[in-house]
Amino acid sequence: MKLKIAFYWCSSCGGCEETVVDLNEAILDVVEKADILFWPVALDFKYSDVENMPDGHIDVCFLNGAIRLDEQEEIAKLLRCKSKVLIAFGACAHQGGIPGLANFHGGKACLKTAYEKVPTLDNPENTRPLTQSQFRNKSIKLPEFYQWVKTLDQVVHVDYYIPGCPPQPHNLLAAFTAIVENKLPPAGSVIGSKKALCETCPRNKTKPDKLKIEKFQRYWDVDLNTDRCFLLDGIICMGLATRGGCEEKCINVNMPCSGCYGPLDNVTDHGASAMSAVASIIDSNDPEEIERIIETIPDPAGTFYRYGLPASLLGKAKTK
Ligand code: SF4
Repeated sequence: MKLKIAFYWCSSCGGCEETVVDLNEAILDVVEKADILFWPVALDFKYSDVENMPDGHIDVCFLNGAIRLDEQEEIAKLLRCKSKVLIAFGACAHQGGIPGLANFHGGKACLKTAYEKVPTLDNPENTRPLTQSQFRNKSIKLPEFYQWVKTLDQVVHVDYYIPGCPPQPHNLLAAFTAIVENKLPPAGSVIGSKKALCETCPRNKTKPDKLKIEKFQRYWDVDLNTDRCFLLDGIICMGLATRGGCEEKCINVNMPCSGCYGPLDNVTDHGASAMSAVASIIDSNDPEEIERIIETIPDPAGTFYRYGLPASLLGKAKTK
């Protein structure tokens, strides 16, 4: 019996779908063992195809993207009902991802910027998207744009997580193999490495235990050395507190880790854990000096919560 699998995307850039395509020839092994019942980004399936399936008909559904629209929540709930196993696939479904950064402002502020403030905008009538409108005597319905971005597990029960922005094809293949061989980890687990990126990083030998530093800076302000730990140049590298398993893709092209594989097991707040790791290596006992150095971290919110704001303890901005 072949497995029945499905892929779906919510609020995401499409990179997770690229991961499926990037399986290359290995996708032939996948389709030998599994039938793809639903994959709207690649083939012309309809929602009614899913609605007409019996509950639990899909063996495994890989769902990527955060929940930003009511339509996405509706389909996530439908796929939850029709799937035995639901996997949050990629950083946006797992932690909120880049779309989750909007939670620093909220959906209303996003629409205000897009429809009122963009310099190249031509919108004299202050037109805004409506959930319901009439056009040539026809009623047109658009999904509701939520005020706050949610992770997948904030709207439905999730069985497993595959991290990454995007997850690497070998991560998808490893998960698929674990499913086929019935070797899945305990329910609720992240399917991936249990080690921090630092542990496998080729620059680890030069990583400082204590960091003598005047200030933190952005990587484009520095003539980056290609073989030593970014922290030595005052560049924040999230590898300190981020799950490995990405094959050090960014490090290998001289870019610091930005944290897309999320926190390690048993860490509630990825950003807080990274901040604590950075603070612990600053070599000073003078609180004023430590505070002055920490204040030089460029865009701390965007740096430490780039992929995980909706899943974090902060979750979202406080608005009136
Ligand atoms: Fe590598 Fe970054 Fe860890 Fe330094 S902080 S060892 S560059 S992953």
